Amino acid sequence: MAKLRFYYGTMGAGKSTMALQIHHNLVKHSQGLLITQHDREGRAVSSALGVSAAAEVIGPHDDLFTLASTEISSRGEVDFMVCDEAQFYLSSQIDQLVRVVDDLDIDVFAFGLLTDFMGHLFPATARLLEMADERNEIQVESRCWCGELATHNARLVDGVQVYHGDVVVVDDGSDTAVSYELRCRRHWIDGEGKPAKETLRSVG
Ligand SMILES: [Zn+2]
Repeated sequence: MAKLRFYYGTMGAGKSTMALQIHHNLVKHSQGLLITQHDREGRAVSSALGVSAAAEVIGPHDDLFTLASTEISSRGEVDFMVCDEAQFYLSSQIDQLVRVVDDLDIDVFAFGLLTDFMGHLFPATARLLEMADERNEIQVESRCWCGELATHNARLVDGVQVYHGDVVVVDDGSDTAVSYELRCRRHWIDGEGKPAKETLRSVG
């Protein structure tokens, strides 16, 4: 019986690295598909450690059940799908993945973040938690600047944490610098970044 497995972790937990490893191991003995959305580099899944593999990049208009069915028609067989950046899929696409598992007997390995910069579950993540056969937290710990376990992603605009805005920021070429930083819950709520060295020196 095929299964829908969901692996979640914060940024820096090595989700893409694990997705690539699973794909690498399975593809030696079986036929599979690697898909992603909004990855660092074009049509590939790439890990922060520098490993990458060619991937199918999907958008909101892609039906993942149709995608898998079409692949079966052209290749004769598909045994598994590895889905990176799954938090960005539509929740309807997660339901399509459920049908891929149940109707096409294809194992699905989905990787994603739990919460956005506002501290809310991504809709696709919520759907994965509701529908997956297995929910696995990736046990690579990321740390806040203070040394505590990092559980939240902070969005910084020109260095200042923000709590409102679009879930996905599209680079519009403006001068506004958007970046993300891992924080513990306390420092995510306080919006407090690492103190500058001068501050530390005056305190110490
Ligand atoms: Zn902290």
